[in-house]
Amino acid sequence: MNLLAPVFAVVAAAPSPASPTDAVGYRVELARAGDTSVAVSLTLPASAEGPVTLVVPRAVPMGYSQQLYDRYVTDVTGRGGDDAAVPVAREEGPRWRIGAPGGSVRRVAYRVDLARMEREVLGAADSSRARPGYVGLLGYSVFGHLEGWESRPVALEVVAPAAWPVFTTLAPQAPPPRARTSAEASDFYALADSQVAMGPALEVLRLESRVPLYLAAYPEGPVDLAFTGSLVARALDALVAYFGSAPFPQYTALVELLTPLSPDHGYGFSMEHLASSHYFLAAEAGVTPLSPEPLRRRVLFNFAHHVAHAWIPKRAYGEGYFPFSWELAPLIDTIWLSEGFARYVATEALADAMPEPEGLAYKKAMLDSLRGTLAGMPVFIREMPLVPLSRIASTRYSEDFRTGRTLFARGALLAAELDEQIRAASGGKKRLRDFFRQLMDWSAANRRGFRISELPGLVRDATGVETSEIWERWLSQ
Ligand SMILES: [Zn+2]
Repeated sequence: MNLLAPVFAVVAAAPSPASPTDAVGYRVELARAGDTSVAVSLTLPASAEGPVTLVVPRAVPMGYSQQLYDRYVTDVTGRGGDDAAVPVAREEGPRWRIGAPGGSVRRVAYRVDLARMEREVLGAADSSRARPGYVGLLGYSVFGHLEGWESRPVALEVVAPAAWPVFTTLAPQAPPPRARTSAEASDFYALADSQVAMGPALEVLRLESRVPLYLAAYPEGPVDLAFTGSLVARALDALVAYFGSAPFPQYTALVELLTPLSPDHGYGFSMEHLASSHYFLAAEAGVTPLSPEPLRRRVLFNFAHHVAHAWIPKRAYGEGYFPFSWELAPLIDTIWLSEGFARYVATEALADAMPEPEGLAYKKAMLDSLRGTLAGMPVFIREMPLVPLSRIASTRYSEDFRTGRTLFARGALLAAELDEQIRAASGGKKRLRDFFRQLMDWSAANRRGFRISELPGLVRDATGVETSEIWERWLSQ
């Protein structure tokens, strides 16, 4: 189905200003197999008054760093309502001014150099890539937005070389269609947070689970995809059971097993999105049913942790996560909650799915290992209060992972103490899970980030248990 055609047909019949529900058309094309750059275009539903500003992201939701994706954008052009070329000027920051006062702007186009991006962005999870027979795109690394149009719905068209399978996490299909696919996104954030993969080297599996689940894989080496997929399904099912429902219609795990581009490139971090997550199997390439139990557990937990982020903080978050600041990475006070509570949730969800006493032993081992992590930290980081440390990690979480590891360890141990208190005070009738389920409902209803000061009250509402003293003690440390 081509979603762009009806959008244009409506505009042609009714040249009045577009209503706020009309979609912005995005098109991304890899023209030929072997190309290492893509062409991107944005078409407004109706002409805008000139000039407009193209903004290319420099920050990634939950990336906790700056990535200068505008460096890889070339050949920016603009066209007016009459399809004539309009002037383009580079501005300070990741911005281009398109068009001129008194004129109109209808379409903006540019190219993105994927080879240079992969060369210069050293964290694999922050870069798109073009490799022989495969192209993988992170939405925020290739899609910009026109200032003021971010909340509009998006109609995406992806065009690949003839016969190339093409896949988008916005509308996953197995097997994927060839040469072209299309999808809709609710706004720019949902588009930017999505992923595209294409090429004859792409493999897509549909997996058995509680919600439609896809494994999209690009392996540059031998890997047991069916077993890897079964671990993803196990993680997803445990999380859906924990929260009681899924906030997405379908989910994709995108797995890349990559030959390192250089010794400076890192492949250790995974990345979460609204309805997908992105993994690099360099270290775990050999995971099979016969792998040692600790390795299988580690891979399973990594999947569960990143799937848990689809709930926390993607849909229940502290201030600063949404609306997202695309040009400057926001300072966030609650990374300890986003990362630590998601870690605790993943641990609990997996433990719930295990027979006892295995589940209890698993949980205890995970918490002990977090205490070990903290014990190994330099004192000045270990003793920094959570909010200032969270602000520091807002731009260097993985760059100096001591900040990230301290935050998630302390956040998870705080969650564990809250859970203990809730279970004890309620005689086992309530647990922290009840708070998380209510927090999901609260976030959907309020459509804003919670404040730290609201959290004890939200726990009380969900469980009837007073936990203010625990929050105060952990937050002052
Ligand atoms: Zn995380």
